[in-house]
Amino acid sequence: MENTFKIPRVIHIGGKNGIRKIDIGGSNPVTVQTMWKEPIIALDTKAVDSIAVRISALKSLGCDIVRFAVPDMESAHSLCAIASSTDVPLVADIHFDYRLALECLKGNVSVIRINPGNIGSIDRTRAVVEACMEKDVAIRIGVNSGSLPKDLQEKVLNSEITRSEALSEAALREAEVFDSLGFTNFAVSMKASSVQETIDANEAFARRSDIPLHIGVTEAGPLITGVVKSTMAFSHLLKEGIGSTIRVSLSSSPENEVIAGREILHECGLRKGGVTLVSCPRCGRQGFDVHSFMDRWQNRLLSLDRNITVAVMGCIVNGPGEGKNADVGIAGGGGKCIIFKKGKIVQTIDEKDADIEFEKILENL
Ligand code: SF4
Repeated sequence: MENTFKIPRVIHIGGKNGIRKIDIGGSNPVTVQTMWKEPIIALDTKAVDSIAVRISALKSLGCDIVRFAVPDMESAHSLCAIASSTDVPLVADIHFDYRLALECLKGNVSVIRINPGNIGSIDRTRAVVEACMEKDVAIRIGVNSGSLPKDLQEKVLNSEITRSEALSEAALREAEVFDSLGFTNFAVSMKASSVQETIDANEAFARRSDIPLHIGVTEAGPLITGVVKSTMAFSHLLKEGIGSTIRVSLSSSPENEVIAGREILHECGLRKGGVTLVSCPRCGRQGFDVHSFMDRWQNRLLSLDRNITVAVMGCIVNGPGEGKNADVGIAGGGGKCIIFKKGKIVQTIDEKDADIEFEKILENL
């Protein structure tokens, strides 16, 4: 089979009313997305502010775009309020009711995620597309393997085509609706919960279309399972140049989704810089609880806007040696901790003061 994949065309999101502009596709950096995990109904000003603070923390961890489910009008109003309180582009995820999309478009939302197949008549899709054109807002079409058109389902049942070919065909049909309306500022996602199906569907689509792809393994599972599945699918696709934006879908926090996404991009050589964490697994020689230190410090360290390597090691005997390439590291034993830089011990502190002293070290790096 031909393995020539089209270079994705460039679409843009954000860029107005104080929202960060992001170009997606072409040679632009692959972006990381996550999805908000709680309902956003009945939000007061304090709740909106606290969501904006958490979005800002997600941004520091490497998140580019945050998506919110909008199942009702109240959520649409809340999303508009949140979108006015952050510079991170937000996506309104809409199913079935096109009026929710139109309501979100009255605010500062940067992307509408819809599936024309479940919005209803072409007039409803047209109304959303025209409003998006007017407000210069992008769209993401989402196609799931669980909601394929009937004729494609039958072809799969009759073994005429594979499920991934059906997914790709369904996505192309949805894209044609947008093309016929003269709208091009959209991306496509095809979601399957199997790694191979995700790979095959995205490859099949990228052979036929230059529309940028949002890639993700849907319902990928809890933290470890989901990260393994997503890493396998994404590393395969990204190395082929497929995937302009990614979401690691996890039964875990948005923070973990973002960290997993950025680390995958980093290891694929698609995101440079930032903090690299080195930590030992801990063993019977340990004199310092690396696991709990990392639990406390991981997000803080990964949020630093620095290009450094930080090592957290369980024992004084091996720690500095094993972490000798780290710009800064900590190891412990016998109630004491040592701070080292490039393998050289620069400070010895009481273990009980480890957090306070480590914070001071970071501030003065
Ligand atoms: Fe074990 Fe020390 Fe190596 Fe950690 S650094 S794994 S505690 S020997």
